[in-house]
Amino acid sequence: METMEELLARAETSHGHMCAGQVLGVRMALLGCERVGISDPRGAERKNIIVYVEIDRCAADAINTVTGCRLGKRTMKYLDYGKLAATFLNTKTGEAVRVVALDTSREAADRAFPEIENKYDRQLQAYKVLPEEELFKIERVRVRINDEDQPGRPVSRVKCDECGEGINDRREVAREGQTLCRACAGEAYYVKL
Ligand SMILES: [Zn+2]
Ligand SMILES: [Zn+2]
Repeated sequence: METMEELLARAETSHGHMCAGQVLGVRMALLGCERVGISDPRGAERKNIIVYVEIDRCAADAINTVTGCRLGKRTMKYLDYGKLAATFLNTKTGEAVRVVALDTSREAADRAFPEIENKYDRQLQAYKVLPEEELFKIERVRVRINDEDQPGRPVSRVKCDECGEGINDRREVAREGQTLCRACAGEAYYVKL
């Protein structure tokens, strides 16, 4: 694994700017990988890691930069919890840790760098150097991953009886003898015009 500075440089390029979220995300990912015994997530061990991110903000990109886990490879799972947290699963050993950024890290940044005037600069600097226990809660967890959520080929492909669109990986809903996609079953996020 590269150093934190090297990873931050790559995160900045990939994300488009440097921000506190990149620093937290890089550190979360480094910690998570280390705690589940993964030292080369983008190389030899790329098939052994799945990350569950609980927020769709800056840090999620940094976690992608460090781990190489991606939505399109099914190695990054997005849970819409609105929390700056992520779980790192070693699929080979089953070990998993959940890393949560603490709300108190902001006050810790204020205490560590009172001389830096701008709040965001203060956080940016502090998050690079503060000890992990001031920034994160880390907990051992167990994650069960279903066959239909695994990377690799889809386990199923069916057609929605209503709209005719194809549905992968058992995301269909059975209703009154019909096979429906989630949208036709009433879960659509859009309205047809
Ligand atoms: Zn950002
Ligand atoms: Zn449908």
